[in-house]
Amino acid sequence: MNPRHHATEEMVGLAEVAVPLGIHHTFTYRVPKELQEDCHPGCRVLVPFGRRHLIGVVVETRFGDDDSGLKELSRVLESSPVLSERLVRLGTWLSWYYLAPLGEVFRVMLPPGLLAKKASPNGSGGAFWPAKTRMAVVSTALDNETDLTPRQSEVIEFIQQRQLPLLISDLTRLTGTSSSVWKSLEKKGLIAVEKIDVNRSPWTYSDTSEPEKHSLSAEQSQTLKVLLDRLERDRFDSLLIHGVTASGKTEIYLNAIAEAIKQGKTALVLVPEIGLTPQISRRFRNWFGDEVAILHSGLSEGERFDQWNLIRQGKARVVVGTRSAVFAPLTNLGLIVVDEEHDSSYKQSDQPRYNGRDIAIKRGQLEDALVVLGSATPQLETYHNAVAKGVPEYLHLGSRILDRPLPTVHIVDMRTEFEKRGKATSVSELLEESVRNRLDRKEQTLILLNRRGYASSVLCRSCGHTETCNNCSISMTYHQYSDRLSCHYCGYSRTVPVECSECGKQYVHFVGEGTEKVQEILRELFPAANIDRLDRDCVQRRGGYERILGGVARGETDILVGTQMIAKGHDFPGVTLVGVLGADQGLRLADFRSAERTFQLLTQVAGRAGRGERPGEVVIQTYYPNHYSLRYACGQDFKNFAEQELSFRRKFRYPPFTALANIVVQRRELEKAWSIAEAVSSQLTACRRELSDSSRMRVLGPAPAAIEKLKNDFRVQILLKTTDRKELHDVLQRTFSTLRAEKVDLRRVSIDIDPVDLM
Ligand code: ADP
Ligand code: ZN
Repeated sequence: MNPRHHATEEMVGLAEVAVPLGIHHTFTYRVPKELQEDCHPGCRVLVPFGRRHLIGVVVETRFGDDDSGLKELSRVLESSPVLSERLVRLGTWLSWYYLAPLGEVFRVMLPPGLLAKKASPNGSGGAFWPAKTRMAVVSTALDNETDLTPRQSEVIEFIQQRQLPLLISDLTRLTGTSSSVWKSLEKKGLIAVEKIDVNRSPWTYSDTSEPEKHSLSAEQSQTLKVLLDRLERDRFDSLLIHGVTASGKTEIYLNAIAEAIKQGKTALVLVPEIGLTPQISRRFRNWFGDEVAILHSGLSEGERFDQWNLIRQGKARVVVGTRSAVFAPLTNLGLIVVDEEHDSSYKQSDQPRYNGRDIAIKRGQLEDALVVLGSATPQLETYHNAVAKGVPEYLHLGSRILDRPLPTVHIVDMRTEFEKRGKATSVSELLEESVRNRLDRKEQTLILLNRRGYASSVLCRSCGHTETCNNCSISMTYHQYSDRLSCHYCGYSRTVPVECSECGKQYVHFVGEGTEKVQEILRELFPAANIDRLDRDCVQRRGGYERILGGVARGETDILVGTQMIAKGHDFPGVTLVGVLGADQGLRLADFRSAERTFQLLTQVAGRAGRGERPGEVVIQTYYPNHYSLRYACGQDFKNFAEQELSFRRKFRYPPFTALANIVVQRRELEKAWSIAEAVSSQLTACRRELSDSSRMRVLGPAPAAIEKLKNDFRVQILLKTTDRKELHDVLQRTFSTLRAEKVDLRRVSIDIDPVDLM
């Protein structure tokens, strides 16, 4: 605390503290004299709370009148704040904008464990401060003669691909095996395991090669020049780089970051959850070596903490990470890059429901930094702002590196295909022939089907009944590897029924192909090809992208089948063909973004083809060949797609022409959900009237949500739409503080500002 404000002797030191308990206000504590020197905004403190102790974060300190009713804080946990003053301000803003409790916001801003819900009176409780002796595999003695179970050989194979020592915690996590597997290998003498001291680093290799720097194309240089010019101004500014796939955007970021570092600044790069492939991290590591820290959810908690600490100590000046890396404790931040800014993984789906891209812009304002958004398919809000308002400033890269052509796109009308063949097929003649060509020429193919599992539902041919989840209003997906039905929303699984649970007849059959089934079909068509799969199931079971993507990068995989995961940012020069099955699938969702999503997905996946020396080709199979999102994606025509879609958005009052908030009430009992939703909705209407008589806000609902039941909860939804964003916030703030004051039970009522989907 600053003693200068210590006006008179009667005044005492006070601290406003946010605790991670889902409470919407802060608590005032007295700061004992001996702690005043160390107690600053952004420090973690231990405070008495009811009959227990909690760890909270100081938001503000001041001197005020002695109030004997106040409790004293017990300890200041670090002498230097864990959140800078600017980050405290960012958190406070986030909490206001998204109506999220401040303590919860601080919790997501810090590495896991630093704001644990439980704390002991001595202040310990989930702190990860250095604890470095860990178990690791240190050597192997491999012997091909030994009999191994499939799991054991999988683990051995995994170890062989890694540098040693390899942490046991990483081994079990990345291979998805239990500790009995490595223990049995140790018993057989095939691996040696020891305790070692480690700096928990996510890097599994060291890169000493010279950075691979290209001389920039004219387009790249022009764009970089603008970036560097803005960077030098040392104040907030924002740019949108709209560049077609493989136009060399990443290369521009790398150059700009190098310059920022030269100027003594630091840089932050956000990438989508799935975009943080080993490939991209390697590229940054190759340029910036040990200056790079990486932050994403695939790291262990210890690794995350250690990376965070390196950043905080100023040892890592470049941070590459996913959504929550936007809170990285960099000081003197000069440049923030949000790559693939349209990606929906920037939106956090549970509280606080923030969008990392939007927080990046706010952080840029608070830090006087330059914010660069990049995409081949900008989100329509961003694009509209850039083109219609000039903020962010619009920069365009229209051609691929080395003037490589964009891929040629063919659309196959599956209705004609059906007539021609007289039966339903998954792989059209054109696609089959194109794949065969690639196999002959030793080139690679990606096949996209955005649905995992074997069959998307199980239907009774006799009565039409579909197997649904016991807990959700969702149909069950059949997975062949487990031979079970599972719910993709809650994880519930059960065996495949022999007879229909409704009518008892044995006419149960599978409908709706998923990636597992397509892999099987391709194996029948191309028995000699090496066919791999990439979707959430494979990643969990087999040790991650690294292995699957590595197979493609090394040219070992001929055909990779996968969900949207295969569309993200990968740079595989050997891929010359991309096939898309069920391209129109996403269009059936009742969501105002479905056309935009479809366009993005198709453009992005098409962008994986022809990145190397040989030109690329794309085959899109669909039942709606005339839909505008498909036609424009086919011509890689973003501008005309955007114009058409924006005119629909304007007409039906959707973003960017309105701001939305989606409120969902979830309750075990249906009536309870409805009565709370009614209370919320009538309070919204009342507050809207109180605040203005020319209100532009519309309150839609309450109505059953698109997913009516989830994890045994009934869901009722209220949607707010307005052209006046300030009104949206004013009405929501007032409504919810009134409801809280009236003690309306608001547990599990979620408020989603700027929702990315309305399900
Ligand atoms: P984007 O981010 O737009 O997809 P990248 O920066 O990843 O594009 O560039 C695509 C590929 O082209 C990468 O393999 C990259 O190394 C290479 N590349 C980028 N710029 C150049 C250049 N000026 N000359 C040659 N190759 C380049
Ligand atoms: Zn379920």
